[in-house]
Amino acid sequence: MTVTAQTTTSVGLKGQPIAHLTELWKIYAKPGSDVAVEALRGVDLVVQPGEYMAITGPSGSGKSTLMNIIGCLDRPSKGRYLLGGQDVSLLDDNALSEIRGRRLGFVFQSFNLIAQLTVLENVEVPLFYLGIHRHERHRRAMRMIDMVELTDRSHHRPPELSGGEQQRVAIARALVNEPLLILADEPTGNLDTKTGQMILGIFDRMNAQGRTIILVTHEREVAQHCKRTIALRDGLIVSDAPQPH
Ligand code: ADP
Ligand code: MG
Repeated sequence: MTVTAQTTTSVGLKGQPIAHLTELWKIYAKPGSDVAVEALRGVDLVVQPGEYMAITGPSGSGKSTLMNIIGCLDRPSKGRYLLGGQDVSLLDDNALSEIRGRRLGFVFQSFNLIAQLTVLENVEVPLFYLGIHRHERHRRAMRMIDMVELTDRSHHRPPELSGGEQQRVAIARALVNEPLLILADEPTGNLDTKTGQMILGIFDRMNAQGRTIILVTHEREVAQHCKRTIALRDGLIVSDAPQPH
């Protein structure tokens, strides 16, 4: 039987939100000081399947901290985080890493591809960690590479590609494990306007196909692609609107 990513996701979720944060705090200890930094101060947030959300806010408002917690790269100091109905607030590093590999897809401003590997091998990496057999790995990776229209570049290495092409490889890699949620941190930050628009077009298309996307941006034009924008200030959500403002 062939099951699409969406079907698998919704069956696994049983009507749960993708992400459900309750009274979430992140407090950093400042090295060599008694003063603690309250980077998140009681954030409540629900993200439903199929949402396309931008996180905005001034520098230091807590965007990266929030993204890192949603992306299971870090744990909250207080509060609860349910990812697809599963409480991940208290999991240890190994368990978080397992969750990241199975349920999340990441796209970074700096692409984060492995220069020594080909496009195909880069996209296969997440499947390698999931222990998926070579033939299936190859088939699934090529499907994603086709989707981002890089089929004829699959044997090239990242340094031979343009920035826009590298980001398309990163998107293919983020999708190859059929994640519950795609997280993108300033995904167009290193691209010229025209290339950035092309990358946002791919996100738009992915969302139209039902994929859930959260991206961090400080650019209004980027946020305008999303269907919902939350603004952070001093560790709190100060606005949450269906349209950017
Ligand atoms: P943004 O991404 O919106 O610029 P951050 O989430 O990076 O904001 O930071 C929010 C606040 O937390 C800032 O005051 C920042 O200095 C502080 N902060 C972030 N990471 C750390 C850390 N690892 N240790 C101590 N303070 C941190
Ligand atoms: Mg940041």
